[in-house]
Amino acid sequence: MGNGSSLDSSKTIYLSIAGKTEKIVLSRLCGSRDIHDLIAQAAGVSRYSEITLRDSDGALIPISPSMAKNLPSSPYEVTTTTPSLANAGDGEAFKQVLSQVTEQFTQSPNMDMLRVFKVDEMKLDLTNRINVLERRLELEGLKAVEIEKCRRDISDIKYQILNSQKKVIDFNNMRPMYYTGYYSALSDERKISLKRDVPLYPKYTLSQETVNYLKQPTFDIWDWEPNEMLSLLEHMYHELGLVTEFNINPITLKRWLLCVQENYRNNPFHNFRHCFCVTQMMYGMIHLCKLWEKMSREDLGVLLTSCICHDLDHPGYNNTYQINARTELAIRYNDISPLENHHCAVAFKILSNPECNIFANTDKEVYKRIRAEMLVLILATDMAKHKDIVEKLRSLIPNFEYNDSDNVQALKMVLIKCCDISNEVRPMEVSDPWVDCLLEEYFNQSDREKMEGLPVAPFMDREKVTKPTAQIGFIKFVLIPMFETVAQLFPIIDKTMVEPLRIARDRYEHMKETSVPNTSAKKDE
Ligand code: 5GP
Ligand code: MN
Repeated sequence: MGNGSSLDSSKTIYLSIAGKTEKIVLSRLCGSRDIHDLIAQAAGVSRYSEITLRDSDGALIPISPSMAKNLPSSPYEVTTTTPSLANAGDGEAFKQVLSQVTEQFTQSPNMDMLRVFKVDEMKLDLTNRINVLERRLELEGLKAVEIEKCRRDISDIKYQILNSQKKVIDFNNMRPMYYTGYYSALSDERKISLKRDVPLYPKYTLSQETVNYLKQPTFDIWDWEPNEMLSLLEHMYHELGLVTEFNINPITLKRWLLCVQENYRNNPFHNFRHCFCVTQMMYGMIHLCKLWEKMSREDLGVLLTSCICHDLDHPGYNNTYQINARTELAIRYNDISPLENHHCAVAFKILSNPECNIFANTDKEVYKRIRAEMLVLILATDMAKHKDIVEKLRSLIPNFEYNDSDNVQALKMVLIKCCDISNEVRPMEVSDPWVDCLLEEYFNQSDREKMEGLPVAPFMDREKVTKPTAQIGFIKFVLIPMFETVAQLFPIIDKTMVEPLRIARDRYEHMKETSVPNTSAKKDE
């Protein structure tokens, strides 16, 4: 396993491309797209090709700044697909519809000049829309929501044509099959069921040093490849006595963790490593605060399990995007915390498979309680509720009572929130790359919002944000006040977590004062 000291600024990845080993070197500033393009270059294919990496076990490796290093003896196998078949098919089909629409008019013997102009105008409009779609197809691949948007575009054109031509056109016959094929993550059983099985997830022996280090907020979360993170998570369940408490079958624990890992997407920020970070910080807080003296093992199990599940199947675009773009998730959850509701639903879909149900051996009543608590905790990670949740705990602190389940629940809600946004508590070398990951995900979203004509939040806009400006306000007004509240109940938090936050704040303020304004972002916004 890693040795906890790899904080150097570059990372070497070995690739196997058509039987030949190639080497690429990534700087910590490389984003997912840069790495993707670099691999495409090494493979001699277009940057718009789809690229898949697998390790020697056949497991998929996410292309992201946090991807694990490997050795020349075990390069990642690269496979590439040109975009013209699967995704570009959507653009092609759209073009076909266009040509069918125009053909219907140009072949009509009764057409007058007015109609010709009208058709030309519509053709131009459609061509422009196709150009926009194709550009997006190149940049990111056409996604299900966009297919739905195409359907609406076609439907608009149909309406315009029917009105202008007063002629019945059977568009249903022209509608390609995918227009009815809505994406539904929850019904996608293939994804939720397990692709790899446990024998492919190697067993690691953790050194005493690693086991102790894992309890610290200073733990270097970049040092571990995905399989190692699984082993570390597994260790936490054993070490905290949760395997005994819930009578968990150890193989079920491994299977459940694998299935959870497979249901995190390859986003710059909201990926499996973020899940690991949040869980490791919770594990650290449990030990720092000796939470077992104040809470039940069941509470600890709920805290840890909620952290592991809290961002399952995150699509990389936030709730505001979901609501403004009227996505399937926003529709399903009526704009009420669509993402957090989805994370919960995926979590319980996974647990509904007996092979992956770590709570299968608990009483019905216990399962019911665990489920209710996990829903509350995962839903509490919606930052829209931040103020209310922190204020609730603050109001309870003067008379805090560990025997009162409502009081303990208010504390647990703040604890999961602390862990969720705790990157800046970590040493600079560990936290710094996370800011790049977060900004990359923000910029992906704002670029797309600009392209789709949706509102763009200034904090996501590449024209307006810099690293220090993104972090100073977040640390001063969100993180420090919340961790100070927890420190009132657990004084050790002040030295171990609030103090590193103050140091990070001062460092970003210094960075802001000394930074030279650049072309990509304005210093003072
Ligand atoms: P999550 O989406 O991870 O469940 O909720 C946490 C949200 O808090 C993130 O989506 C992100 O918007 C915000 N956040 C977390 N960490 C940071 C950080 O270090 N800086 C800033 N500016 N925002 C953060
Ligand atoms: Mn999160």
